[in-house]
Amino acid sequence: MSKTTIPSEYYDHNDSDNVCFLCGDPKYTLKYHVDHFDFPFDFKKCQCGIEKQTPMPNEKFFAWFFNSEVFYSAKDTKKDHIWGFYDYFKDEPSRIATSKRRYKKLSHIFEKNKPLNIMKVGPSTGTFLHVAQENEHNAIGCDVSSEFVNWAKEKYNVHIDNGRFEKMKYDDGQFDVLMLFNVIENIPNQDEFFKSVNLRVKKGGHFIFNFVDETNNWISKLQKVKYFMYRPPICYIYTFKVVEMIMAKYGFKIVSNARDVRYMHLEKILTLLSWNWALPIIRALKIDTINFPIYAYPSRIIVAQKM
Ligand SMILES: [Zn+2]
Repeated sequence: MSKTTIPSEYYDHNDSDNVCFLCGDPKYTLKYHVDHFDFPFDFKKCQCGIEKQTPMPNEKFFAWFFNSEVFYSAKDTKKDHIWGFYDYFKDEPSRIATSKRRYKKLSHIFEKNKPLNIMKVGPSTGTFLHVAQENEHNAIGCDVSSEFVNWAKEKYNVHIDNGRFEKMKYDDGQFDVLMLFNVIENIPNQDEFFKSVNLRVKKGGHFIFNFVDETNNWISKLQKVKYFMYRPPICYIYTFKVVEMIMAKYGFKIVSNARDVRYMHLEKILTLLSWNWALPIIRALKIDTINFPIYAYPSRIIVAQKM
């Protein structure tokens, strides 16, 4: 396996053991040294409970990563590990089912004062925007991947701005609802990001996101450094207590914390678990892409209200 050379300028040299955006009292201990991807890095845990990757990837890293084949398809690159997804676009039926379920579960927010101005940060293929649009909302997205922007436009005719949300020129209080799913851990500049979320959500509006909860996470404890969160570019890992601290710091009140049930198929689950040996078996049985709902990862959905 060839090593990927990632230039030093793809990392944030101002982020180090001297910085914790959350507590301002950085005291880190090494949790894992990760050596099974193409370049070595560490995960460190601060005394406040948040964990981060060091060195921290910067915008150049993400611009490269989210437009690269290593992200979209391990199948094409024939790597023996998964950085991004086994085959991203093939997972679309899972995402549609998940988006519909999430909309329904959050209907107390979405169905109250229609239409809402919805922003989805990192909407990937645009499935949730599509579901929101079908329910008569004004829903737009913002994504760093131009490939997703074009794909979502073509497939669903939904609008996604291309760029980093925190750098875009949106108005203060522009959005009734701002959502992100499977995004929060991939944001290197958390302080800048949460400040911009606070500014752009209107007072009383909602900030909805999910996160993989490291609180009593037995899968993580069993798999240790092989757990799917300890891979590039996961910038941060959270517990619920850490999420509570973040919401309080950036002006939001948590109104609900629920299980994030998603539709997944076996091929995806097995690759997340790194059980690649089982892939030929499920394919032979033709059960590799059957979707079913699962409380995965374990991931939580937080609904927070802007104070
Ligand atoms: Zn800290």
